[in-house]
Amino acid sequence: MIDQMGRILANIAGGLIPGIRFSMAGETNSVYLTFDDGPHPETTPRILDLLAKHDARATFFCLGRNVEKYPAVFDSIIEGGHVVGNHSWSHPNGWLTSTGKYLADVNRASEVIDSNLFRPPYGRITPGQYRQLKKRYEIIMWTRQFADYRPGFNPHRVSLNGIQPGDILVMHDNSANVWNDAPPNIFNTLKLMDRIFACFPYSFQVCNTKRMVHHTIP
Ligand SMILES: [Zn+2]
Repeated sequence: MIDQMGRILANIAGGLIPGIRFSMAGETNSVYLTFDDGPHPETTPRILDLLAKHDARATFFCLGRNVEKYPAVFDSIIEGGHVVGNHSWSHPNGWLTSTGKYLADVNRASEVIDSNLFRPPYGRITPGQYRQLKKRYEIIMWTRQFADYRPGFNPHRVSLNGIQPGDILVMHDNSANVWNDAPPNIFNTLKLMDRIFACFPYSFQVCNTKRMVHHTIP
């Protein structure tokens, strides 16, 4: 399930909204893997193992409430050489939440997630929320997302055609139906990941909280 809307938005908005990054197109040959909504005690370690196997790095946009519940899992993300970002405390929809309440939720998450990267839940923030957030964060959207949060998601049916350098891919490390389900599903997902890496046997960049770092996959 590919979100072409992300790319359209990236084309329209890329460079036009300071502080919001929709894509890395034109700046890199890399593809960015990002995982939202964790950490999760079973799913996240599996993803970390998989990434380690491929010597790849990813960015994990964590929920503060999950970091509080699973601090050791959160630490293992950082120990694995990956990058963490703030994805709020409780996953509010910015369009339906007052700016004050929204910022309080993000600030609460910032007490347990030390990062200047922020991804709005659902990709939805109001202009007022944006104006406040951009003072403190680089806001990271995406070009493509997979519907791995939906029951019945089948990694075999995902089309990876047309993935381009600079794409930012969204997956979820709380997707019980994919990552925590029966072994066949996990196997399928591993194959999906293999395909992603096979398509891009060049360097993966990592959003570091302070600078951009290159990690090359041999
Ligand atoms: Zn989310």
